[in-house]
Amino acid sequence: MGDGLMNKTDLLGMTIEELKAFAADIGEKPFRGKQLFGWISKGVTDFDSMTDFSLPLREKLKECAYIGGMEVLEVQKAADGTNKFLFGLEDGNAVEGVFMKYHYGNSMCISSQVGCRMGCTFCASGLDGLVRNLSAGEMLQQIMLAEKETGQQIGHVVVMGTGEPFDNYHELSKFLRLIHDPAGRNMSYRNITVSTSGLIPVIKRFGEDFPQVNLAISLHRLTDEGRSALMPVNRAYPLDALLDAAKEHADKTGRRITFEYALIKGENDRDEDVELMIRRLSGILCHVNLIPLNSVKETGLQGSARQRAEKICSRLEAGGVPCTVRRELGSEIDGACGQLRLKRKLS
Ligand code: SAH
Ligand code: SF4
Repeated sequence: MGDGLMNKTDLLGMTIEELKAFAADIGEKPFRGKQLFGWISKGVTDFDSMTDFSLPLREKLKECAYIGGMEVLEVQKAADGTNKFLFGLEDGNAVEGVFMKYHYGNSMCISSQVGCRMGCTFCASGLDGLVRNLSAGEMLQQIMLAEKETGQQIGHVVVMGTGEPFDNYHELSKFLRLIHDPAGRNMSYRNITVSTSGLIPVIKRFGEDFPQVNLAISLHRLTDEGRSALMPVNRAYPLDALLDAAKEHADKTGRRITFEYALIKGENDRDEDVELMIRRLSGILCHVNLIPLNSVKETGLQGSARQRAEKICSRLEAGGVPCTVRRELGSEIDGACGQLRLKRKLS
C-alpha cells in the first residue's frame, strides 16, 4: 500500500452512480462507471485485468485510482474448513471476519465497526469501546479478500462480527444495496442476515428498507434486570418493547426472526430461564440459536457445556420454540468475535 495510494481514489464501495460520476471526472464516458462496477463486483482489483478497457485508459486509472486498500494480516484455518481472518485496514486498524462452510454453501461473517460502543459484558469486541465505523467498501472487501484467499465463492453473508451494524446504518445499508445490485454480485437479500443488540428505532427502519434481509436479535436474558446487567443497551430499549418490535417485524415481513442466546453457565442457562424464554417467545415467528458462550478471559464468564445446551434446546422445541445449537465451527481457533483482534493487541 504505502504512500502510493495517498492521492488516489478508492473505487471499492462506490455505487454505479458514484462510479459514473468518477468516470466523468476523469474525462471518460459515464458507461465506463458501470463497466468498472461489473469488474469490481467480480473481485477484480487490478486494472490490467479489465480487458474491455484500452491500454491508455488502464494507465490513466492506475494513476488516479485503486480498488480496496485492505490486506489479510492473519488467517487461522480449522480442519472443518473454517477460516478466521484478521484484516488490516488502511489506517492501521484491524477487524475480523470468519469464512464458514455449510451444507448450503459458503458463508462469511463480517465486521461492521472497529470495536463497538454497546459494552456487552461478555463480548471481546466492546472491551475498548468504538474506534470507528467501517465503510460499505470495507465490509465488501472482507468478502472479496476471503474469496481470494480461499479460492471459493461466498453465497451467504452474516453481519455478526465486531460492531453493532445498526449503529452504522448508513454504511450498512449502502453495503447491502451494493452486494445485492443485479449489475454486480446480485446476492439475494434472503442470503443475508444482520444481527443487532436491539436498537428498536433502527429495527423498524430496517424492516421498511430491507424486508427480505434476515434479522437476528441478540437476546441472552429474558428479564430486564438480567439483560441490562449483560447488555447496557437494554436500559434504553427494554425487553417488552424489543419483543413487540420483533413480533411486528416478523408479522410485517413474514420472515422468521432469529434470537441469539449465548448460554452462560449459572447466569442464563437454568431451568427457570428456559421456561421464561418459552413463555415470552411464544406467538413470535422466530427461531432460537443457542450459542455456548465462548469464554473471554477478560470477562470472567463461562459458557455452558454442550450437553446442557442440547438439553435446553430439546426443552424449547417441546415448548413450541424452534431451536438449534450453533455448530461449533473451527472450535480450535478463537471463535468469539473480537478475540483475534484482542489477542493481537495484547501480544
Ligand atoms: N453487535 C451485534 C452483532 C455482532 S455480535 C449483536 O450484538 O448482535 C454477534 C453475536 O455474537 C451476538 O449475538 C453476540 O451477543 C454474540 N457474542 C458476543 N460475544 C460472545 C461470546 N463471548 N460468546 C458467544 N457469543 C458472543
Ligand atoms: Fe457490540 Fe454485539 Fe459485542 Fe454487544 S455483543 S458489544 S453489541 S458486538
